[in-house]
Amino acid sequence: MIKYAKAQLGDVFNKLTTSSGLVSRTGHKYADVDFSCLDDTPENYIGIQVTAMPSVDILPPHFINPKTANLVNNNYDCWEKGLLKGTYTTLKGCPSYMEHNHTKESQRGYILDAVLYPVINDGVEVYYVDELIAVHKSFSDLLQRINDRSIAVSIGADVKYSICSRCGQIIRDDSDYCEHVSMGKKGNQFNLKGYNKPTVASEICGHRDDPDSNRFFETSWVVVPAFRSAAIQHIFGSLTKLSSVLSKEHSDIQKLFGKVKVASGNSMNIQRLSLKLCSSPKLASSLLFMSDIRKMNPIGFNLGLESLVGSYETKQINEALTMVEGLLKV
Ligand SMILES: [Zn+2]
Repeated sequence: MIKYAKAQLGDVFNKLTTSSGLVSRTGHKYADVDFSCLDDTPENYIGIQVTAMPSVDILPPHFINPKTANLVNNNYDCWEKGLLKGTYTTLKGCPSYMEHNHTKESQRGYILDAVLYPVINDGVEVYYVDELIAVHKSFSDLLQRINDRSIAVSIGADVKYSICSRCGQIIRDDSDYCEHVSMGKKGNQFNLKGYNKPTVASEICGHRDDPDSNRFFETSWVVVPAFRSAAIQHIFGSLTKLSSVLSKEHSDIQKLFGKVKVASGNSMNIQRLSLKLCSSPKLASSLLFMSDIRKMNPIGFNLGLESLVGSYETKQINEALTMVEGLLKV
C-alpha cells in the first residue's frame, strides 16, 4: 500500500521541461554527508533543508492524542512517533521527484540525509523529520520555485498496513476498510474521555512495534503539501559550499540543521512573505521603519499592533519582521 503525504496534484508541472543533467556516478563523500547516491559531482547540486513531516502521539491502543490531531495530514493519514523514529533513516539516499511521478525524467535529485528531532506540540512531545535534499543545478525552474518558496515537499511511503484510529481495524487492502476510514469517511472528529478537544478518525500507517511496516522511499516536490508543517527551511547553495561549512563549523549535519532551523508550521509562509517584502524597495523601507519602532519600544509596538490586527497576526508580523531584518542585514 503506497501512501503519499500529499493533498492533490497541481497540473502546473505538466508544463515543466525536463533536463538531461544527471550523468555519471561519482561517489564523493564530504564531511558527514554521504554523496555516493549522486549521479553527478556534488558541485553540480544545490543542498536544501526541508521539514518533511511530523508524527502524532498515540494513546493506547490506537487513538490519536487529540493534542496532536493537528499533525494528521490532509489525506487523514498519520505516522506514530515511535515508528517515525524507527524508520526515518530509510529516507537517506532515496530519490527526489516532481509530484510523486516515479520516472527518471521526473527525478530532480536525491535525499542526502534525514534528521529526527523532538517538537513540543500543545504540551506533547512528537518528532519531526528534516531532510537535506540535493537538487541538480540544471533544474532551474524548480530551483526558482524553491527560492521563492512557491513549492513544498511530500514524502512517499510504502506501508504494509494501516490501522483505523477509531476502532483499531487493520487495513491491508481495500476490502479491509471499516466504516470510519472508508472512502469519504476519514477525517470525522470524535471525542475521547478526559480531553476537551476532539480527535480524528484517520489511518495510522504501520505500527510502532513493527519497523518493517513502513518504508519511506522518496520525497517529491509538490505544489500542495499535505502536511502543514512541510516547508523549505534553508538553501545551502552548492553542496561543495555546504561541505566546507560542515567541515569547518560542524561535526555533523544534525548540528547544522539545529543552527538554521525555523521550525513552525507557518515558516514557509513567513519566508515567502519576507522575500516578497524585501523585493520591493518601498515596502522594505516601511519595514525598516517598523523595525526601528520595534527596537525602540517592543512592548508598545506589540500592544499597538495587537489592538489593530489581533495577537495571531501580531506574532506573524513579528516573525516576518525578524526574518526581513536578517535578509536586509539590519
Ligand atoms: Zn474503524
